[in-house]
Amino acid sequence: MSENDTLLINEIFLSIQGESLSTGEPTTFVRLSGCPLRCSYCDTSYAFKDGKTLSYAEILKKIRENKTKYVTVTGGEPLAQKNCFKFLDTIAPNYEVSLETSNAYSIKSIHKDVIIVLDVKTPKSNESDSNIEDNYNHLKNNDQIKFVICDQEDYEWSVEYMYKHKLNDKCKVLFSPSYEEMDPKYLAEMILKDNIPVRLQIQLHKFLWGDARGK
Ligand code: SF4
Repeated sequence: MSENDTLLINEIFLSIQGESLSTGEPTTFVRLSGCPLRCSYCDTSYAFKDGKTLSYAEILKKIRENKTKYVTVTGGEPLAQKNCFKFLDTIAPNYEVSLETSNAYSIKSIHKDVIIVLDVKTPKSNESDSNIEDNYNHLKNNDQIKFVICDQEDYEWSVEYMYKHKLNDKCKVLFSPSYEEMDPKYLAEMILKDNIPVRLQIQLHKFLWGDARGK
């Protein structure tokens, strides 16, 4: 490791994974600072700026202290920091690592053992122009694609987009209702009515702790 091996970190904390196929697993979250996007429903705007520069060694020490098998690297947008790629290479051999990323950066060079949770941006996020379609060529079958759905139009767009890019053939697709914006029950009923190959995802951490930070 060199002196360049640092990241701007917003927070590192122990919690229960609230999203993805690892929902419910005790997990160490490493939240990187900074994001160039401005999604309409963003609940981590505090991560846009605040942060502390930590060496990889300091980050690894905090991860070890939590004694979890699972580590999730999130943001902000983690890939906005170039050093994130090397950090993932460093931790991938020792933990079950997932990366939550916005689909605004290429995932081509992510370590093969890292599970990518790719957040496809819908029109109501106001960031759908940021989607990089080439990313769909680099998905592994244990990666996950997430759509945060704000309303009926977003739902219809997401279904069409999923089929157009054959996303459900590449990996698991998650439909998540935008918190306090779309009724989860309504989304569940739409999924059943249309018989679409997606998994409904409700943010467990919001159910447990609401908007509390570091949870
Ligand atoms: S990509 Fe994530 S962190 Fe960035 S604005 Fe969107 S929801 Fe917020």
